Amino acid sequence: MAEVLVYVDHVDGAVRKPTLELLTLARRIGEPVAVALGAGAADTAATAAEYGAVRVLTADAPEFADYLVVPKVDALQAAYQAVNPAAVLFPSSAEGKEIAARLAVRIGSGIITDAVDLEQGAEGPVATQSVFAAAYTTKSRITKGTPVITVKPNSAAPEAAPAAGAAEALEVSFSEQATGTKVVSRAARESTGRPDLTEAAIVVSGGRGVGGAENFPVVEALADSLGAAVGASRAAVDAGWYPHTNQVGQTGKTVSPQLYIAAGISGAIQHRAGMQTSKTIVAVNKDAEAPIFDLVDYGVVGDLFEVVPQLTEEVKTRKG
Ligand code: FAD
Repeated sequence: MAEVLVYVDHVDGAVRKPTLELLTLARRIGEPVAVALGAGAADTAATAAEYGAVRVLTADAPEFADYLVVPKVDALQAAYQAVNPAAVLFPSSAEGKEIAARLAVRIGSGIITDAVDLEQGAEGPVATQSVFAAAYTTKSRITKGTPVITVKPNSAAPEAAPAAGAAEALEVSFSEQATGTKVVSRAARESTGRPDLTEAAIVVSGGRGVGGAENFPVVEALADSLGAAVGASRAAVDAGWYPHTNQVGQTGKTVSPQLYIAAGISGAIQHRAGMQTSKTIVAVNKDAEAPIFDLVDYGVVGDLFEVVPQLTEEVKTRKG
């Protein structure tokens, strides 16, 4: 069976959920060979193997931390040459997409970004993309070189399929360009203690109806009672009420949690593009005609400042 390279997104050896999804999808195309780079790379092997990696190629060197992505592109190219895979898959993170694009240029291959599904077709992997604010779904196939594909988070449910994959050292020699851009400082984003937006099982989002940054704690309190991430509509983000990193939608993040609660959000198509695949959707809106109600599983017509705090209290009471 052909091997498929899967780039592992991890933090000091802790594999992030989008990579588990990627390993799950990769198994439809061939046998996943994971590639993990940087500090803790070898520690990813057990998790990668649990999700089907038959081999885990690892490399650590100061270059991965000290310079921007080119050392990682060098490493992926080395892995590509060593494995001769049927496809190379990356999570659709900013870093994943940059490495993927550079690798595709180097190996003379076509690239598909932001796939939401992947299957094996008669002539190679077929990627599904959601385009024009999710108004259309396209299926495409790469016709030049080895398919390089990035896949959005929450495109598949991770399914374990234990395989033998053990960490193997990957030989990497760095190109002249690898040290062209040095990282001079890093600033950790202030931690909220909440789950990552794209990985959270529950997301509570606020929109223009929240009325101001000073009112967002109403949304945050519900999120915290549920152990949820906080999202925001573009209207709330553009008004400066919440950071852009929390924006859900076409020009923000795509989320697909078990439960999505929209408070004071009208349900514009560009917002829906980022949340409509959520398993259960709940909306609180004082306008019974708001388009979000066309999409919901449960809708509450009411003032969010009355409904949301009651919901928060109810959740807290039930949790004891
Ligand atoms: P509104 O549409 O103004 O809706 C506010 C809602 O709150 C109303 O339905 C109102 O009835 C309700 N409300 C008001 N007060 C209360 C209250 N007290 N209690 C309960 N309900 C209340 N938008 C995104 O969200 N994400 C994107 O990524 C995105 N990308 C875009 C890209 C492009 C190219 C374009 C053109 C637009 C994009 N937009 C995006 C913007 C989008 O079109 C909408 O303008 C935006 O989603 C509206 O945000 P909203 O629902 O919070 O505000």
